[in-house]
Amino acid sequence: MIQTNDLWKRYGKTEILRGVSLEVSRGEVAAIIGPSGGGKSTFLRCLNGLESFDGGSVTIDGETIDARVPQARRREANRRICQKIGMVFQAFHLFAHWNVLRNVAEPPIRVLGLSRPEAEERARRLLDRVGMGDRLTAAPSELSGGQQQRVAIARALAMRPQAILFDEPTSALDPRMTGEVLSVMADLARDGQTMIVVTHAIGFARRVAHTVHVFDKGRVVESGPPDRVLENPAQQATRDLLAEQG
Ligand code: ADP
Repeated sequence: MIQTNDLWKRYGKTEILRGVSLEVSRGEVAAIIGPSGGGKSTFLRCLNGLESFDGGSVTIDGETIDARVPQARRREANRRICQKIGMVFQAFHLFAHWNVLRNVAEPPIRVLGLSRPEAEERARRLLDRVGMGDRLTAAPSELSGGQQQRVAIARALAMRPQAILFDEPTSALDPRMTGEVLSVMADLARDGQTMIVVTHAIGFARRVAHTVHVFDKGRVVESGPPDRVLENPAQQATRDLLAEQG
């Protein structure tokens, strides 16, 4: 469902991604862990077209973007990929002047052409699912960080993406709010949502992920099921990371 093949990304002379090949199947939860600055966030941005890349290819649900194709000609494929992929960021990016319901209902109206009643019905259902069904008319500023993040997850789901990418979704949250958000994500995982989660929450990776990929200095140094990678790591980089974060 998601595949990258020898993905390279440079900023100027600095190599940020150095040949990342990785596959995620439909219904799979992939956790990406690794030291800060290793390229995890850049990798997610390359997957959903927020960032261009210099070598290799990205395939999402049969749609391929290859670095050899000129930028201008990638635009249409980029747009299609963007619609297949939802994104949840560390900072929630809700619209401050829209209430909770509108934050979730508006994107499907504008992008997918849903009618307002249809979109609001979908939004209500999803907000119920993330435990925010009783805060439909609240403004984002009236919510805790954990609540805002749950609204942001509902907003991503409202576009019915093929996969959702989470970029350190709990890094800005205290432990209680982190727990609320991770529990919503674990529910999605149980329902078969394809997800890639960049996270420092090693416990979450251990419990929920099917596969863990360890990024270090722009490469995937180790991949496998959590009970192998996290309990019996083959690489020193993974052992160092677990000593620090695990
Ligand atoms: P991670 O998510 O693993 O912490 P990032 O993907 O955020 O890593 O960053 C990888 C490296 O790329 C870092 O050294 C960072 O400074 C650099 N970087 C990220 N974005 C840019 C940018 N827009 N311009 C230049 N360097 C960047």
